[in-house]
Amino acid sequence: MSRIAYVNGRYVPHAAARVHIEDRGYQFADGVYEVIAVARGRLVDGGPHLERLERSLGELRIAMPTTRRALEAVIAEVIRRNRVIDGSVYLQMTRGVAPRDHAFPARAQTQLVMTAKRAKPHPAAWPEDGVKVVSLPDIRWARCDIKSVSLLPNVLAKQAAREAGAYEAWMVAADGTVTEGSSSNAWIVTRDGELVTRAAGAAILDGITRRAVIALAREEGLRLVERPFTLAEAKTAREAFVTSTSSFVMPVSQIDDAVVANGKAGSLSRRLRQRYLAHMAAEAGRG
Ligand code: PMP
Repeated sequence: MSRIAYVNGRYVPHAAARVHIEDRGYQFADGVYEVIAVARGRLVDGGPHLERLERSLGELRIAMPTTRRALEAVIAEVIRRNRVIDGSVYLQMTRGVAPRDHAFPARAQTQLVMTAKRAKPHPAAWPEDGVKVVSLPDIRWARCDIKSVSLLPNVLAKQAAREAGAYEAWMVAADGTVTEGSSSNAWIVTRDGELVTRAAGAAILDGITRRAVIALAREEGLRLVERPFTLAEAKTAREAFVTSTSSFVMPVSQIDDAVVANGKAGSLSRRLRQRYLAHMAAEAGRG
């Protein structure tokens, strides 16, 4: 099956999808994006993802190119044309195409591209055995709450993880606290059973999966605290895991050279993964 991309009003074969060389996304990373999971052909938490997209656009003063309704219709069509059952949709909006100049162009037309793809299931061992993460300094800017396509530090971090045979890289601020993963939010369960993740703010992306897991943890009556935790605290934690649109809830069993607890997925991490998978199934069954 040939894949189809949406580019500024047209559905085109993926291999032929093009943007202009003076697209500000290409020149300045002047744009934002979203990745939304698709389960049984439906969006998982589509509303919160589109709200976050609108917020990112607003923070950068990039105009929304369509109405929310029209955008939802295009998303549904991209999913349909690519016959995605379980997978994800990628949306990207940039400030527009204009002669290169750092300041905003006088008349910019927001450029919108969209793709959708099927997801491979996670290897069965990962949620059981947990995955490895490595740590490195957080060298990003001070507005990580904006889901910008400017991802170079994240790219370098993920590459470092890959070269170390790890699943993810955790970024550590100058004060020794873990901010988040290169493409996920970071969580621990402390020795005394407290579930900890950093509070939303400029230092992290407020993950939609993070929010869903916070809601599930509250339903479960878990002791949840939104606060920074240090790398040292994580290494001696009872459990650790990451959350993201594509990882769902993924248990972590090793941080650098430190084995977390018994080196397997923790019980709370497993439970929250199951609860999150049920949440995805419920989203798929909506409407
Ligand atoms: N932090 C960063 C830096 C990310 O790129 C992502 C994934 N987009 C996340 C956190 C997790 O966000 P979400 O749960 O919305 O996928």
